[in-house]
Amino acid sequence: MDNRMYVEFDSISSNESLARVMAAAFLTKLDPTLEEVDDVKTAVSEAVTNAIIHGYENGEGTVSMECLIHNNEFTVIVSDKGVGIEDIEKAKEPLYTTREEEERSGMGFSFMEIFMDSLLVESEPFKGTKVTMKKKIGRL
Ligand code: ATP
Ligand code: MG
Repeated sequence: MDNRMYVEFDSISSNESLARVMAAAFLTKLDPTLEEVDDVKTAVSEAVTNAIIHGYENGEGTVSMECLIHNNEFTVIVSDKGVGIEDIEKAKEPLYTTREEEERSGMGFSFMEIFMDSLLVESEPFKGTKVTMKKKIGRL
């Protein structure tokens, strides 16, 4: 059966672990392998961290996460209403970061791409960013 979960939480770094645990718990219904759970947790962490540190620049804000199950496909959408991304293609390149001085490696989007089946980034400067990721669970 299909399922949907929508949550909003404050933009604080401790909510990154909350988000990944919620996504993992929601995913359980699809009977994922440990590897699949880890992949989803990593991808969610990267997207939520980006919303907090880049989107809201470590300041106040609300991050939302929507999780969906349709047949054996899991979808997660992480959104913020922060500063947005000027050049999305550039931002997605491996090793590209606007925060080198903070020991960011610029690999967040690359990990999301590797660990999920698909990644869609939609963003507009000063409006916010929406990251949609999908992954088929199991080999049915
Ligand atoms: P890492 O994820 O390895 O710590 P990073 O966050 O800089 O480093 P990515 O996650 O790949 O690397 O993101 C690349 C760049 O895209 C960021 O440096 C930032 O400029 C921009 N970016 C990503 N997510 C957002 C967001 N939600 N809002 C605004 N800018 C973003
Ligand atoms: Mg990142």
